[in-house]
Amino acid sequence: MQQPDLTDQFVELIRLASTDLQADVEDSLRAARDREEEGSAAQGALDTILENIRLARQNSTPICQDTGTPIFYIHYPAGWSTLKMRHQIREATATATARSYLRPNAVDSLTGRNSGDNLGDDFPSFHFHEWEEPYLKVDLMLKGGGCENVGAQYKLPNVTLQAGRDLEGVRRVVLDAVNQAQGLGCAPGIIGVAIGGDRGAGYTRSKEQFFRPLNDQSQVPELASLEERLTQEANQLGIGPMGFGGKTTVLGVKVDTLHRLPASYFVSASYMCWADRRRTMIYRDGEVAFE
Ligand code: SF4
Repeated sequence: MQQPDLTDQFVELIRLASTDLQADVEDSLRAARDREEEGSAAQGALDTILENIRLARQNSTPICQDTGTPIFYIHYPAGWSTLKMRHQIREATATATARSYLRPNAVDSLTGRNSGDNLGDDFPSFHFHEWEEPYLKVDLMLKGGGCENVGAQYKLPNVTLQAGRDLEGVRRVVLDAVNQAQGLGCAPGIIGVAIGGDRGAGYTRSKEQFFRPLNDQSQVPELASLEERLTQEANQLGIGPMGFGGKTTVLGVKVDTLHRLPASYFVSASYMCWADRRRTMIYRDGEVAFE
């Protein structure tokens, strides 16, 4: 297959991710709004969030002023050049920044200088995977800084939390992570959890959980029931939307596993804020579709 120039389509993917929240997230926020006490601060916060989502979509402006780290997961057919895709996506990122779909967010860690166009070392971030399918799939996540700051990684056993190397131990540390975050991750959030791996792989896998639709349950029965239980228990913590108190602290919890070394048992918990910006672009038979 001839590899096309998809730069303009990548700009559109970024625009959609930044300005047009996925329906399942918006529906979940609306359901949370209806569950909260009439006239409560929690309900007021959710009303503001929902109005913000509507205006962002209507005006094609970012849902949040922090447009986050752009993280691209790219599945491509055999024969495609990752170098070309990388160039096209970087160009699209700079264009999207110039059009204010993205805030300039790439800061040199030594000098503090902002590159101004969201281009830097591993910025945007890429994960390339060749696959056997005959089409291209590009998933984009915009990962906000506030919620990234409250992600946490635990090394089990954890004596303080009485968390051993089993699913009960995982449950304890994930609830601790949500409790420690309070409203600082811009609750209600989604919690992505990876059990196992090394430290780097664990965090990567935990973030990949954010591409799962909110109604998606793990195919592994023990993990599906852990996801359900953690969602219910996190919502009993009373932290509530933006930390104002209330019934909705998380919209969901997604758990996956990786193989690990006998010596290590990491639990990585990534936090995604209510501005759960994710979009997918499919290029198949010369046609582009966005999901
Ligand atoms: S955590 Fe999310 S909602 Fe909060 S400021 Fe950052 S991007 Fe915006």
